[in-house]
Amino acid sequence: MKPTNAQLSQTGTTIFEAMSGLARQHGATNLGQGFPDDPGPLALRQAAAAYVLDGPNQYPPMMGLPALRQAVAAHDKRFYGLDVDWQTEVLVTSGATEALLDCFLGLLEPGDEVVLLEPAYDTYAPALRRIGAVPRAVRLVPPDWSLPRAELAAAFTPRTKLLLLNSPLNPAGKVFTRAELEVLAELCIAHDAYAVCDEVYEHLVFGAARHVPLMTLPGMRERTARIGSAGKTFSVTGWKVGYITAPPAMLHPIAKAHQLVTFTTPPNLQHAVALGLAQDDAYFASLGATLARSRDRLATGLTALGIPILPCDGTYFLVADFSRWLRAGEDDLALCRRLVTEVGVVLIPLSAFYDREPPRGLVRFCYCKLDQTIDAALGKLAALAGPAVGAAP
Ligand code: PMP
Ligand code: GLN
Repeated sequence: MKPTNAQLSQTGTTIFEAMSGLARQHGATNLGQGFPDDPGPLALRQAAAAYVLDGPNQYPPMMGLPALRQAVAAHDKRFYGLDVDWQTEVLVTSGATEALLDCFLGLLEPGDEVVLLEPAYDTYAPALRRIGAVPRAVRLVPPDWSLPRAELAAAFTPRTKLLLLNSPLNPAGKVFTRAELEVLAELCIAHDAYAVCDEVYEHLVFGAARHVPLMTLPGMRERTARIGSAGKTFSVTGWKVGYITAPPAMLHPIAKAHQLVTFTTPPNLQHAVALGLAQDDAYFASLGATLARSRDRLATGLTALGIPILPCDGTYFLVADFSRWLRAGEDDLALCRRLVTEVGVVLIPLSAFYDREPPRGLVRFCYCKLDQTIDAALGKLAALAGPAVGAAP
């Protein structure tokens, strides 16, 4: 038989799927894969169920149900002051994962360079490589994940077609400031590059931090595609409903990629998400407030156990430094596997978000969980609090 695609034939199962599998196998507390314990707003789930019964359950319009595209445009105006034409500037996709792929397929040619910031979501680099684009990773500097400005500037070249930005950032919980976004915008404009902004955690931002879409900065509106996800905004990660806002010249080829990849997205879910986006400001505010309490519960518990944590202003995730508990020769993946069997807690190694040479011993906790789930994990991790597990010398 002729060989199948070399890159994908050699690709393993995603860390999120693998670690959730281990959680089930060992009955461990799963603070790995990012999905909430909260089942999502009842009214939305009822609306989706009623639509299945009443129909129509046939192909919706390729660009998405008008009600949802209008709701996305209204949402972008309400939260960010963006004037969006719902007919030419909004596309509904089957999750942000599809939206990202559609953007890559629609905007890039083989050989085009894409600047992205590490830690980076695990689909970015493989998807870019599969279509022949060249990821140029710039590493943010922990603990506050600051932008290394000289390296960033050096990463932009005449071949740079696109900046790929995830803010708020999975796994770091960083929310990029306006000053940082200005640096990025300046580079995009100077190099005539597009920006694809993965903003799936746009409403999961805490305290004084504010989410600013790069698209709202001067000179960026006409070169930016902004991606949102109902999975995060309504705590229904299994629904896989995403949405892209982009100027018509960008959205046209992106929509043609969507035409090839899925063509449409289930209409009942689109209908429910349209209702969701129209909810009052209190809904969106409570989402962040509830999550901030969970972050605090986890952060306080880890600190009490003597486990160092890094700052976190948003997302579902908090990064902790487990380097003290690494055994000789062990990397973060091996440590996380050992924590499943020895401690009964599933976490995600940060190496999953790096192409090469990840920082040593950083792990990601997911805290969009019930108090008892967080407490159960903390209780099990108390076994670490004394002498280090494995007693690294
Ligand atoms: N981007 C980031 C940064 C994510 O964390 C996720 C995880 N869900 C996605 C994209 C994919 O979102 P969706 O489930 O809507 O495909
Ligand atoms: N985005 C989720 C996370 O970071 C996982 C999504 C997935 O399982 N592919 O945990």
